[in-house]
Amino acid sequence: MSDIMGPVRVRQEGAVAVVTVDFPPVNALSTAVRQALIAVFRDVADDESVAAVVLSGGPSRFIAGADLREMAGLPAPPFLPEVIEAMERCDKPVVAAIAGAALGGGCEIALACDARIGGASVLIGLTETRLGLIPGAGGTQRLPRLVGIARAVEMICAGRILTAREACAIGLLDAVAEGDPLAEAIARAPGTVKRRLSRVVVPPGEEKEEVAAIAVARRKAGGVPAIEEAIRVVTATRGQDFAVGLAMERAAFLALRESVEAAALLHLFFAEREATKIPGLGDARPRPVGTVGVVGAGTMGAAIAVAHADAGFPVLLVERDEAAAAAGLERVRDIYARQVGSGRLTDGAMAERLGRIAVGADWSRLRDADLVIEAAFEDMDVKSEIFRRLDAVARPGAILASNTSYLDLDAIAAVTARPEDVVGLHFFAPANVMKLLEVVRGARTAPDVLRSALTLARKLGKQPVVAGNEDGFIGNRLYAAYRRHAEYLVEEGAAPAEIDAALEEYGFAMGIFAVSDMSGLDIARAMRQRRAATRDPRERYVTIPDLLCEAGRLGRKTGGGWYRYADGVKAEDPAVTALIAGERARRGIVPRRFTPEAIQRRLLAVLANEGAKAIAGGIALRASDIDLAFVNGYGFPRARGGPMWAADRMGLTAVLGEMEQAYATGGAGSEPAPLLIELARSGRTFSSLDRGE
Ligand code: NAD
Repeated sequence: MSDIMGPVRVRQEGAVAVVTVDFPPVNALSTAVRQALIAVFRDVADDESVAAVVLSGGPSRFIAGADLREMAGLPAPPFLPEVIEAMERCDKPVVAAIAGAALGGGCEIALACDARIGGASVLIGLTETRLGLIPGAGGTQRLPRLVGIARAVEMICAGRILTAREACAIGLLDAVAEGDPLAEAIARAPGTVKRRLSRVVVPPGEEKEEVAAIAVARRKAGGVPAIEEAIRVVTATRGQDFAVGLAMERAAFLALRESVEAAALLHLFFAEREATKIPGLGDARPRPVGTVGVVGAGTMGAAIAVAHADAGFPVLLVERDEAAAAAGLERVRDIYARQVGSGRLTDGAMAERLGRIAVGADWSRLRDADLVIEAAFEDMDVKSEIFRRLDAVARPGAILASNTSYLDLDAIAAVTARPEDVVGLHFFAPANVMKLLEVVRGARTAPDVLRSALTLARKLGKQPVVAGNEDGFIGNRLYAAYRRHAEYLVEEGAAPAEIDAALEEYGFAMGIFAVSDMSGLDIARAMRQRRAATRDPRERYVTIPDLLCEAGRLGRKTGGGWYRYADGVKAEDPAVTALIAGERARRGIVPRRFTPEAIQRRLLAVLANEGAKAIAGGIALRASDIDLAFVNGYGFPRARGGPMWAADRMGLTAVLGEMEQAYATGGAGSEPAPLLIELARSGRTFSSLDRGE
């Protein structure tokens, strides 16, 4: 037998039918693949010369998962459950030969086989919850029958992807082949005993482990309803008929598929792929980056060094003098010690990573660096001096980057004789944890330097977003407007704690005033002072944060800011309430009440409005980049898709209406963006703008 059914090929080796999916690039489960698989399994089931079946995706692939392009629209039948039904009806042992990715639907297909043989490159898991869904073709029912309920909850809720070794350790793979998994699967298939998970009972589990797995999943749910649904259908497998569970799963899957959260997460999935498509880069290749230098070993520099060491780069961390270098090394050690203390890192791994970081005050060593990232004080004179020194010491072709939050990158680049090698790499605190990396493109930044920055981000496991060189780039520019308007709301009558509660109810991990207390009120004050000379006098200026600073309330580090902290516990402070009341009275403001929804709508409108200005000014390439920045760098809830996407959901006419009120409150600087007005009037959205419509 040798046959081709569209994207699926069948050949016979002895009594074994080898079914190979061949649908480049990743063997996604498109309609054509689903159709072909159903037809093939019907054929081999009926073919008397076939005693066993091996299912493969070729030497380096299996089935990566659903075809997400299809999912964005309305997929056509047959659906995946019908493929798996056809496999179930095949009364011969079926062995999966897995190389590469077997994710989502690909993993569900593997679970429907009688045995799973993996290659060394296997990446396997049920990742649907990452997109706000649950597995919809039996994954939630088969996995617990194989690995137990606690593990299934943990894997499905986290969308965890296992390596070959990990999968084998828990029995998700029966064996890891030394060489080609296909050859081994073919050899094993005739002797394989049929073991359909649909007929297996859920193994007894430790209740304590299940309760713990569920608690962790709920804590990390982040407003994604799929998590609760996954817990419900997985835990129901105990003592329940397989068919009943399958129906339960399908109903939950179909309902989630219509959910706004799933649409938001799918939007972010595509946004991540768009973010590295940058006009003007042509076919520029990244410059090779081996050794990385970091200048300044303060809060950011130390964590930036850690981020690079974690990713395997040798790091040269340079300070102004030996004493500062010693303090920097302590900071690096502290970061790792905390990780070891909480069990996230072993002593051995810490030693290895620490071994990659050389700390000192000898700048001549930076000669060996392919990339140097400056993370010294946020001061133009300091940075200019550093870049002059770097220009003198760095090798030709080395990339020179600044972690500046607000300063003019072109002015920094201009002090060097090689402005084309200069780029902004704006990390977020803590730099070894936060996913966002804003890549600032200067007027002269060379295409291959920008490409290198994007490649670096990937190696660091970070999400790059390219921003134009303007005060605050994308993220801090939006954040400044958001904070200003949160302060206007305070002056108008809302308590900081009410605003924070509304934001947390919306899905932010922390409200804006709690965040200010954490990062320190002095940082924002320094920024306001820097801007004082250029601020439009007609812009409304709230003095409450300055008064807090003057009272020595710089945030958590001084025991109080917008809140007070006794033993680290946050509480409203009557002194702050009185200070706010005094300011309102001084300005003749009669305080109003704001509902949580009013607060949420106002601040969302402000973010989207500022985002529209960033797009129109060329600071952001697209609305979806702004969404990525806010979700990955500022705690905006993923399940809401980012501020621009959420604004589309609110409706841009409503956003504009809200912004007109915000303008009446804030005055100069809060004008509705012409782009927002244009989109609202023409009935378009930020998404349609991104699509070029
Ligand atoms: P920091 O004050 O903690 O650290 C700055 C370090 O730079 C100090 O250790 C100092 O000794 C060192 N330094 C100063 N001048 C130097 C010189 N000439 N040569 C070598 N080292 C020198 O500051 P930070 O919070 O780490 O911020 C550093 C940079 O990162 C700033 O540009 C800041 O705007 C930016 N940034 C900060 C954050 C944040 O949340 N803290 C976030 C993003 C970006």
